[in-house]
Amino acid sequence: MRLHEYQSKEIFSNFRIPIPRGRLASTPEEAKHIAEELNGPVVLKAQVLIGGRGKAGGIRLVKSPNEAEEEASKILGKRIKEIQVRRLLIEEAVTFNQEIYIGMTIDREMGDILLIASAEGGVEIEEVARTSSEKIARIGVNPLLGLRDYQARNLAAEIEIPRQLWRSFIRILRNLYKVHVNFDATLAEINPLVITNNNRLIALDGKIILDDSALFRHPDLVDKRDISVETPEEIEARKFCLSYVKLTGNIGCLVNGAGLAMATMDIIQHQGGQPANFLDIGGGASAEKVAAALRIILSDPQVETVLINIFGGITRCDEVANGIQQTLREIKTDIPFVIRLVGTNELEGRNILASADLDTASTLREAAVKAVAKSKVEKT
Ligand code: GDP
Ligand code: MN
Repeated sequence: MRLHEYQSKEIFSNFRIPIPRGRLASTPEEAKHIAEELNGPVVLKAQVLIGGRGKAGGIRLVKSPNEAEEEASKILGKRIKEIQVRRLLIEEAVTFNQEIYIGMTIDREMGDILLIASAEGGVEIEEVARTSSEKIARIGVNPLLGLRDYQARNLAAEIEIPRQLWRSFIRILRNLYKVHVNFDATLAEINPLVITNNNRLIALDGKIILDDSALFRHPDLVDKRDISVETPEEIEARKFCLSYVKLTGNIGCLVNGAGLAMATMDIIQHQGGQPANFLDIGGGASAEKVAAALRIILSDPQVETVLINIFGGITRCDEVANGIQQTLREIKTDIPFVIRLVGTNELEGRNILASADLDTASTLREAAVKAVAKSKVEKT
């Protein structure tokens, strides 16, 4: 889950990382009012969860409160890369000499927290990383030992932070490291961290991504989750605790268990087909949950066949069959189904499906062969 810039900055501020003064506005009048308070040139920053806002027109520098109002009325309600702008962060404009990049991610292979820094931060950082990777400094931090002073100093030296700023640079690194650990982040980034004209370091932009598996530890942030970037399918899937990932193929998959779902996708590919999605309904799914999963799959216009693969353990095959039957009564569809049910209450399940006139298979291979054949017939 990605946090908004203003949320990231609120956290930075609590961890004593300096940020510009500013507040959120959702109307042009508020933008004007905040600009008056700040009493000087301000920057209007669209709070949308996309990268490269600046380049896409989501950052505006203005000189007066009237101009702030006028520009705000132009951006609010508009779409930037498809996402509607509902709020602006209005901040005092900062004049600076240099833009620095600092970021922390998890290096799963090394089992480290990876610190990344560059003297050439700003909106072109990806380009810098691609074309001159020697300008990107990296240090792996052992999470059991934490960030050591010498590591922070090495990083400061490597990206040539001016000597008189080392103390504050190192403090910011330490504090960002604390943010990363405290919030179970997969990414905590400041880009740019600027050296201002009066020689101070300030975080002009912030990005924090939380590990979804640790969200239960941050209920206050989850409550404020912004769902405007998520597809309706993803929102619906989360509501029913389904793991759903949209893919590009045409065979919709409904499976219980992540491993079995992966195997199902592999076998579809092996038989010459393409899965339309990954979907794991989990163990012990109710008819209601199966119905929700099926509605999500059927709402994808690319789906031409549905393959259901259930290995009944805790999950009962008759419960799944009931869910399928219920949904198909609700949603009339011509899309062909292939269903493989084995395990707990298999016979009951198959009887329900037979009475609903649905095609079944007894092995996964057979199910995949049938699904691929049906998806090809559909196309021609
Ligand atoms: P992003 O495009 O979403 O990464 O948005 P940023 O907040 O990083 O802003 C993009 C760029 O706009 C920065 O790299 C700066 O060059 C510029 N910018 C942002 N805030 C200010 C500001 O207060 N003053 C000035 N002069 N430039 C700014
Ligand atoms: Mn940025």
